[in-house]
Amino acid sequence: MSSRRAGVLLSLAVAAAGCDDALLPAPAGPVRLTAVAGQDGAGLAGVPFADSLVVRVTDDGRPVADAAVRWTALGGGEVHPAVTRTDADGRAMALWAPGSGADSVEAAVDTARVVFRGRGDPAAPGSVRWGRNRYVEYRPGTLPLVVSAPHGGTEEPSEVPDRTWGTVVSDRNTEFLAFALADALEARLGGRPHVVVSHLHRRKLDPNRELGEAAQDDPLAEHAWREFQAFIEHASARVVADHGTGFYIDLHGHGHPIPRLELGYLLTAADLARTDDALDQGNWSVDSSVRTLVDAAGVPFSHLLRGPDALGSLLEARGYPAVPSDGQPDPGDDPFFSGGYNTRRHGSVDGGPVSGVQIEAPYPGIRDSAENRAAFAQALAEALDVYLSRWY
Ligand SMILES: [Zn+2]
Repeated sequence: MSSRRAGVLLSLAVAAAGCDDALLPAPAGPVRLTAVAGQDGAGLAGVPFADSLVVRVTDDGRPVADAAVRWTALGGGEVHPAVTRTDADGRAMALWAPGSGADSVEAAVDTARVVFRGRGDPAAPGSVRWGRNRYVEYRPGTLPLVVSAPHGGTEEPSEVPDRTWGTVVSDRNTEFLAFALADALEARLGGRPHVVVSHLHRRKLDPNRELGEAAQDDPLAEHAWREFQAFIEHASARVVADHGTGFYIDLHGHGHPIPRLELGYLLTAADLARTDDALDQGNWSVDSSVRTLVDAAGVPFSHLLRGPDALGSLLEARGYPAVPSDGQPDPGDDPFFSGGYNTRRHGSVDGGPVSGVQIEAPYPGIRDSAENRAAFAQALAEALDVYLSRWY
């Protein structure tokens, strides 16, 4: 619907709502809908605005509670949820992630409508973008690399309730590790990766789970989850626009008995226990987070997992034991993390030009001090330099 038509309907709604001087009881007539907050916003394309869109529904000046407000994205953006109900003050809100460029969203109740306008822009390298209340941070970069740290956060704001089920143990210092990696990459390659971190403690939000388990129905946690995921997607889109292809790393920390790096390509310990021939001939790469990379590189899958130029092997060669690698082709019966929600969503198991891996780092010697984080970051930057040159 054009904004002009919406304006006409809104005027009619206002006029009808004003006809309250009749002796007969007023019919449940058109209500008035006004934009209270969120008009003319500007943010990153595809990322929810920090502030919700807010409308107010009134009937003859009085707030209308429990009215169903329907939200419709009119351009390339997305709005959540599709329907919200007004509170006692007649207010309803929704989250809007604008598409690229000028965009708009319509809110509607009965025949009353209001259109919100706004725009979505690309992230500028060197800037820092924050989500609502600074729970999620995105530092845009220039390299074909996206690094996220979902579990390193320490903030426990009282406005977000504790999660009541699922894992709540944090991956200590992994957000600092992500920033150390960015510094090491810049020192080595002259450019920075895109970095996305959650500052919320995992008790409040788990950005490496699907929305239900991640936020457990809390709207503020859901907002932060959407920001975290959208920042990664914005970053991946920038990487593809700038380079055509790219690599994604989801950084974690584990407390398993063996202090080695665990690289999750979505292959379980049992998958990795297969021989190289079985992995290469069985088309196992289609179930991995490096599916597109295997196709593009045109090499046997096993080379990318545990050949001499595999990421694990390059890290082992720099003094950081890793599985899978040429030295440790599979984890055996020991505990092993094979890759989570983010690796599945932002790697290439479902296609797309960005492949990825989950890196689980032990605490001792890697995450436990700024010095050790910097040393590991330098080794990982070197390994990534070789890896990207070799396979991309
Ligand atoms: Zn984790």
